[in-house]
Amino acid sequence: LFNKDLGQHILKNPLIAQGIVDKAGLRTSDVVLEVGPGTGNLTMKILEKAKEVVAVEMDPRLAAELAKRVQGKPEQKRLEIIIGDVIKTKLPYFDICISNTPFQISSPLIFKFLEHRPLFRCAVLMFQREFALRLIAKPGESLYCRLSVNAQMFFKIDHIMKVGKNNFKPPPQVDASVIRMEPRNPPPSVDFAEWDGLLRIAFNRKNKTLSAAFKTTSVLQIIENNYKTYCATNDMMIEDSLDMKQKVQKVLESVDMTETRAAKIDMNGFLKYVDVSR
Ligand code: SAM
Repeated sequence: LFNKDLGQHILKNPLIAQGIVDKAGLRTSDVVLEVGPGTGNLTMKILEKAKEVVAVEMDPRLAAELAKRVQGKPEQKRLEIIIGDVIKTKLPYFDICISNTPFQISSPLIFKFLEHRPLFRCAVLMFQREFALRLIAKPGESLYCRLSVNAQMFFKIDHIMKVGKNNFKPPPQVDASVIRMEPRNPPPSVDFAEWDGLLRIAFNRKNKTLSAAFKTTSVLQIIENNYKTYCATNDMMIEDSLDMKQKVQKVLESVDMTETRAAKIDMNGFLKYVDVSR
């Protein structure tokens, strides 16, 4: 009946569904984005509290079932169903996002939210336990990764509750967790592509020193190309004696980070690096 490839695990415990909706702190004026409404267990509870729900569902069969659930009821006018892949959909305006997230799109959804404007008030999201723990992992912990730094850079994130796999139909392989994310306002002023590029290099081998991570031939080549483009677009001369390896070493030394490992650096540590390499 349910499509595993689409992560269709229906939340069958109404107390947990209510708990998720309550944690969102909905106001009667709110527009709520729901990702993957499925048969509408969460949707109906959200409609009790919010002005409007925009629900994005990839499976037309489930979208039809949800449409039937509100047909002829006063809620019908306050529910818009978009059929499609949320990752490929231009998101509408929303104040709050609530989702029992299909696990295949956990990471792309977070990255989509990082760049979403205008800022929303908060998102209450169910994820597989390990993914949720990655989001909140701190430097030095084994799950700390590029996702942790990015997510915590742009959001304040709290773990709300653990949800055992038997609360779903069919039960997934692993347990889940609900987290609440609130965008940092104002958002940090970094060029996201540049920032994320830095993190990709640093976390490529997160237990190596930054000195080692930045001095592989391929990384040096990328940095040199970027530097040349930067000089060209800013009317700067490229020094004849350009030695990228040495230049990188100087930058790392100036922030005292040559021997540091990505696994141990927090967001502010990485920001220091962005500032000095300008
Ligand atoms: N909200 C329901 C609940 O809590 O019982 C269903 C949650 S189920 C974990 C995930 C839902 O997301 C399914 O209905 C699935 O069809 C839908 N889905 C999967 N991939 C999607 C995508 N890329 N875009 C939008 N919806 C998707």
